[in-house]
Amino acid sequence: MDGEHPSPYLGEKCGVFGVFGHGLEAARLVHTGLWTLQHRGQESSGISAADGRQIRTHKGAGLVAHVYDEPALAKLTGHAAIGHNRYSTSGGSSSVHAQPVISSQNLLALAHNGNLPSTAALTGFLVSRGIATAGANDSEQMHRALEHELAAGAALDAAIARAFPLFTGVFSLLLLTRNELAAVRDAHGIRPLSIGKVDGGYVFSSETCAIDAVGGTVIRDVRPGEMVIASESGLRSVQLAPEQGRLDIFEFIYFARPDSVLLGRRVNEVRKRLGANLAREHPVPADVIVPVPDSAIPAAQGYSAVTGIPLDFGLLKNRYIHRTFIRPAQNLRESGVRLKLNPIPEVLRDRRVAVIDDSIVRGTTARRIVAMIRACQAREVHFLVSSPPVRFPDYYGIDTPKREELVAARMGVEEIRDAIGADSLAYLSYEGMIESTGLPESKFSTSCFSGVYPVPVAAAQEVLG
Ligand code: 5GP
Ligand code: MG
Repeated sequence: MDGEHPSPYLGEKCGVFGVFGHGLEAARLVHTGLWTLQHRGQESSGISAADGRQIRTHKGAGLVAHVYDEPALAKLTGHAAIGHNRYSTSGGSSSVHAQPVISSQNLLALAHNGNLPSTAALTGFLVSRGIATAGANDSEQMHRALEHELAAGAALDAAIARAFPLFTGVFSLLLLTRNELAAVRDAHGIRPLSIGKVDGGYVFSSETCAIDAVGGTVIRDVRPGEMVIASESGLRSVQLAPEQGRLDIFEFIYFARPDSVLLGRRVNEVRKRLGANLAREHPVPADVIVPVPDSAIPAAQGYSAVTGIPLDFGLLKNRYIHRTFIRPAQNLRESGVRLKLNPIPEVLRDRRVAVIDDSIVRGTTARRIVAMIRACQAREVHFLVSSPPVRFPDYYGIDTPKREELVAARMGVEEIRDAIGADSLAYLSYEGMIESTGLPESKFSTSCFSGVYPVPVAAAQEVLG
């Protein structure tokens, strides 16, 4: 995660984690799971737990380490729990939209990873039932529709099946009633969600790394369009819509942790291949390969392995910077505060440096890094990117940048090279990116690179201009 970004660029990714099983202190496991998924959101965190009689919730702004203390966890009793780490807000203060979403009726807790670019159908339904929608974001509206069905006496599976067609967009959902837990993914499966087994129960997680962290075993992904219900009687699956899986390829490029498995592929291995393919497409004459930590490290390893050019860590990252960190005043930042990244001059001086990053979005990071490396008297600075140019916004997110903020939407490669001040600049090709995953293009949403959106975005485009 890059703390310098004032707002997330590429969608509301978030992290969700759930546990169902008798004899388990579910909320404790969810706490561990959320801590492992901290990279998916640092804005706020919350856990809802159920003991068969009622649902209890604790949530707040900030990191997992700050939101929970022992008394809070001790109150979250019960054999079932879901939790959420939030990545972005829809504009307001950070704790207002903290999840799980609950209400005073307290029939349901909802944790949502994703975004509905249009809520027209959902809002229409709520209005027709006389349910207020003012000030409710997409996740809160989904909660209201589901809780309306539950209040009318529907079972959880029936409520989900009824409301599912109203959810026109991207969602990996965990839902908790006082005695059941459900996991649901939209038909395109843009955001990940996996199922695992722990002693005595089941776990659900945005990423498999958090299933590992609670000592669980990964079973499989929740299928796109599938609803899985965990209850007293075990796991039950219902396919609510035909599967048309298109995982956001940016999960492989940047977002997921390298030790997670997505679509059966270890993220670390895919990132190494992204770097290896980049080396085959764009070998540069360099003395040292320097990754932009942490996310570009596997790609730099792959590049180094193919070219034989040694890898060295010439940029050191402060691991303790998060989005909740109070940023230095703008004038301090521009005067060159090196809080987040600091160069190691001996690695860079008099060398031809090839620096590798996983992506260029606005171009600010690349420009700063090139200047930093030059200031250490590097002989040449070559900038290599282990993904294609990001030319289209991600309409599945809330805080989407305008298209003109994406440097590759405005400029060609040579102009960007000039703008960031590098001696050369090269991006991995689109084909090279797909090849690195070992999976067909049809398995992915590649919208930020291709402008092809699997989920309709017309309504979002109008809103965003
Ligand atoms: P730029 O300065 O070009 O806008 O940002 C590029 C950097 O942002 C890269 O180092 C990349 O690792 C990181 N990055 C890419 N996508 C995201 C995102 O969705 N959120 C955050 N915080 N950083 C991102
Ligand atoms: Mg980065």
